[in-house]
Amino acid sequence: MNIGFIGLGNMGAPMALNLLKAGHQLQVFDLVASAVAELVQAGATAAASPQEVAAARPEVLITMLPASAHVRKVYLGDDGVLAAVDPGVLLIDSSTIDPQTSRDVAAAAQKQGNAMLDAPVSGGTGGAKAGTLTFMVGGEQASFDKARPILEQMGKNIVYCGGAGNGQVAKVANNMLLGISMIGAAEAMSLGVSLGMDPKVLAGIINTSSGRCWSTEVYNPWPQVVETAPASKGYAGGFGTDLMLKDLGLATEAARAAKVPVVMGATAQQLYQTFSVQGNGHLDFSAIIQSMGKVEK
Ligand code: NAD
Repeated sequence: MNIGFIGLGNMGAPMALNLLKAGHQLQVFDLVASAVAELVQAGATAAASPQEVAAARPEVLITMLPASAHVRKVYLGDDGVLAAVDPGVLLIDSSTIDPQTSRDVAAAAQKQGNAMLDAPVSGGTGGAKAGTLTFMVGGEQASFDKARPILEQMGKNIVYCGGAGNGQVAKVANNMLLGISMIGAAEAMSLGVSLGMDPKVLAGIINTSSGRCWSTEVYNPWPQVVETAPASKGYAGGFGTDLMLKDLGLATEAARAAKVPVVMGATAQQLYQTFSVQGNGHLDFSAIIQSMGKVEK
């Protein structure tokens, strides 16, 4: 299949590489020349703009961009995708952005005969490399059915969430809960260890009891409890505090628009914000435990 791919960053590059490995032909574009060069070396063809990717007549065009403003620009801008794409080409945006932008861009695409799916992912850069991402997909069911085999070459769980924007809704709701649960896990671990518990024993109790969650079991914020967690590697790699902050911003903004109180989500946002402005935005978000004074920096 001919596939266009725009946005070759930490996530987009390994996703695009997996599509190349699966035997597809890729036209790629990124603002960063070295990112394009890496994909060209692996067999892709370089394009000079989003418009040029669209004009190369792909059957499917995928984007993986930082935030809502980039998605609007790449699709709706003067040299953007919609200015050049043939009707019928399936558009898939895997960026994490606000649901309303996804709905607006999908509506603009629909007007000119292009179905569009929002398909944000979870699983991080490790999942992107391994091809084990979870895709949360919003849009028409028929477009989802068409996209599924391609998404399966980059991911393991491909979930249909309903109409346009619903993939983003699922993503922001999940990540808001993750942001909150990590702070809860950090408080529980700090409290228990400060009162004399061995961190591994405490985590073992929690993980076989009702406090168990992903943040305690797989990604425990206390160092050396889970060997593979960023907490055991100086909070390097993983999911950056600033990326969590971005997702909490999307969640609280969506909640404002929907008039839903998200008191815990907003509090979590402020706690990560404080941690970030203290110079920790690059650390994995589980490093928030350092702000509780019991884990050394
Ligand atoms: P990134 O910043 O590494 O990559 C984004 C890429 O988009 C960059 O290479 C940038 O040059 C390119 N870009 C920006 N504007 C462009 C334009 N106008 N035209 C072409 N290219 C442009 O970000 P990432 O970590 O790959 O994340 C991408 C998306 O996936 C984000 O929305 C992020 O929230 C989401 N996400 C990231 C992770 C993660 O662990 N990194 C996990 C899940 C979801």
